[in-house]
Amino acid sequence: ELAAEEGFDAEEIEGELAAAGPLPVLAVVGRPNVGKSTLVNRILGRREAVVEDRPGVTRDRVTYEAEWAGRRFKVVDTGGWEQDVLGIDASVAAQAEFAIEAADAVVFVVDATVGATDTDEAVVKLLRRAGKPVVLCANKVDGPSAEADAAYLWGLGIGEPHPVSALHGRGTGDMLDAVLEAMPEAPAETFGAAPGGPRRIALIGRPNVGKSSLLNKLAGEERVVVNEVAGTTRDPVDELIELGGKTWMFVDTAGIRRRVHLQEGADYYASLRTAAALEKAEVAVVLIDVNEPISVQDTRIISMAVDAGRALVIAYNKWDALDEERRFYLEREIERDLVQVQWAPRVNISARTGRHMEKLVPAVETALAGWETRVPTGRLNAFLGELVASHPHPVRGGKQPRILFGTQAGTRPPRFVLFASGFLEAGYRRFVERRLREEFGFAGSPIHMSVRVRE
Ligand code: GDP
Ligand code: GDP
Repeated sequence: ELAAEEGFDAEEIEGELAAAGPLPVLAVVGRPNVGKSTLVNRILGRREAVVEDRPGVTRDRVTYEAEWAGRRFKVVDTGGWEQDVLGIDASVAAQAEFAIEAADAVVFVVDATVGATDTDEAVVKLLRRAGKPVVLCANKVDGPSAEADAAYLWGLGIGEPHPVSALHGRGTGDMLDAVLEAMPEAPAETFGAAPGGPRRIALIGRPNVGKSSLLNKLAGEERVVVNEVAGTTRDPVDELIELGGKTWMFVDTAGIRRRVHLQEGADYYASLRTAAALEKAEVAVVLIDVNEPISVQDTRIISMAVDAGRALVIAYNKWDALDEERRFYLEREIERDLVQVQWAPRVNISARTGRHMEKLVPAVETALAGWETRVPTGRLNAFLGELVASHPHPVRGGKQPRILFGTQAGTRPPRFVLFASGFLEAGYRRFVERRLREEFGFAGSPIHMSVRVRE
């Protein structure tokens, strides 16, 4: 009703709420230099080329939001991922495996001018095993004369090759239509599958912060549950541990226990593993070594958890070895470097001595509760009305944008859609988020907020 008064129609709002929900993920995989990055840029409609001819260019951000034919989805570009870590074949396979696992649909890019190689065949095997919808992109078909090259790729046995020139845009529209047809409307609910089953925790952090020590401590002191728990599909890489009278699933612990000693590329694999663990988890416990300065790697791992939309607990480990001077600097570093995640519950622990182990479960429970908090629309709008009255948006260009009303579109993590009469500045959005937290909690959870402006 409020919405109607303000001149929005129901359909518009529904569309907005659907768009605010989690988006399905499209992974673009294939050998180096087949044109994955070029294709991703094409999908995103970018003019500027982010493509570099030099292989092995690492980029931090590999997930983008895209839209085609009115549908929004995420695109994971594996094109910039590091090559040559374990030899091309192994690294392509590893990349593809992680990307496919996290995806709702896959575009498999093959260079049609080269034809199918052994590496391509290896990726096909992975794709078959994963059972995700796949669209085969026969790239570098720049003109009609090259269409025959594309036809050869029927031989890969994964369906119709779509002839495309990512460089010139030829055929990409038809291919994207096929992608949308194959891709589910909403992402697979990896963490909603078993209601009442054990909650899923990812134990993450840079190498040597004490992940395996903590896992051993937790598993060693408490009873390790060996049997299947009803209603769960349990990966052999996950571990069930009973803590505080409840069973918890620690995901991807094989990666923690099996210490891989790779000289080169260890960080790279560690970050892939972190991404894969986050994908399966509901809550991330990020370990920080209190005796080392907080590093870019620490903050990046925290950002990965926040970007993945997971609940977050920060565990400051090795507290037994902390001296007074370092403690002083630590507190300042936390204020400076982790100010963005002040909302995350904090525990000061020692995996070695067992200090404050009992505080971990309550912190995780707090974070999960914040992650699942739902604010009724009435309460939310009462709050927004007061906020707008007491703290109006600054006047810009003679106009004053106003929040008209808002609604919570979803949880895990909480997602809000605000409808406004004009563009809301980033500073004001942050202010609204801060006040939302003060009012309703959300401890331990990122908050998503999107703003829809009435034209
Ligand atoms: P990636 O390693 O798979 O991400 O490949 P890139 O997107 O970086 O492309 C590798 C090279 O192939 C670059 O020099 C691109 O300009 C080129 N390329 C990409 N798509 C096409 C295409 O459709 N036609 C032609 N002729 N070249 C392309
Ligand atoms: P991971 O790489 O994150 O799994 O880290 P590990 O669990 O292998 O720990 C790395 C090193 O830190 C090992 O030498 C551990 O003994 C040490 N360590 C782990 N937790 C603690 C702790 O709470 N206090 C101290 N003093 N050392 C710890």
